[in-house]
Amino acid sequence: VARPLAGKVALVTGASSGIGEATAIALAAAGAAVAIGARRRDRLDDLAAKLRDEGARVLALDLDVTEEQACIDAVRHTREELGGLDVLVNNAGVMLLGTIVGADTEDWRRMIHTNVLGLMYMTHAAVDGMLEQGSGDIVNISSVAGRTARKGAGVYNASKWAVNAFSESLRQEVTARGVRVSLVEPGAVATELSSHITQPEAREASRQMAENMRTLQADDIARAIRYVVTQPPHVAVNEILIRPTDQE
Ligand code: NDP
Repeated sequence: VARPLAGKVALVTGASSGIGEATAIALAAAGAAVAIGARRRDRLDDLAAKLRDEGARVLALDLDVTEEQACIDAVRHTREELGGLDVLVNNAGVMLLGTIVGADTEDWRRMIHTNVLGLMYMTHAAVDGMLEQGSGDIVNISSVAGRTARKGAGVYNASKWAVNAFSESLRQEVTARGVRVSLVEPGAVATELSSHITQPEAREASRQMAENMRTLQADDIARAIRYVVTQPPHVAVNEILIRPTDQE
């Protein structure tokens, strides 16, 4: 079995479910040591045990990305315990869909703090070390929603638009110094994401949309992330947009 990431260390945020969990599994299978961060420690411990059984080096991190100090600590622990940091996958996110009119603005704060500021804190904490070593991958999980705005998704759209703008600006800033910045933009993936929607109509619409198509599976996205981070050093995959075939 090819292990193109042998000797590399990856940190995946939001690794307790869905795309993040699948990504940790895929990167470990490719030979990386993996640090897995999220708030649900029990889920991380289960995943860590599973990965260790398969022979991987794993570090489970208590991580709420909305707290800058927790992001700084997560990067420092990863470097101390696993010996470096080569790949950061900024995957932690929430999708609290709903109309702007009548919205509970707490949903907005959660999305902006997690999807935008959290991703920025993690990036800021990790990038200096990557620049010092002259290499690294920062993979930011955006969405089709970061490319196409729709009614009923305004603030989620805004959060992923912010991710895209931040990523492209950072790419230009650091690419000549060996750090690659990539965007992965999934369409509908079968995960827990839509279960947290607070507006009942939006939650129902999301459920119906998923029911009427063959959605992507988390591993479909993990394979794309693996592809991004296993390219030779002169190849930078800037952006991948992946929709289910059935999604318009
Ligand atoms: P899940 O809900 O299954 O996973 C989200 C992950 O983010 C969980 O591990 C959760 O862990 C973590 N998370 C949420 N808030 C925080 C926080 N404050 N600090 C740390 N971790 C946090 O959904 P997905 O796997 O689908 O979502 C992953 C990413 O993919 C998100 O950025 C999402 O926007 C994006 N995406 C998903 C699509 C889909 O259709 N599923 C489509 C396009 C993009 P915990 O609760 O334990 O902290």
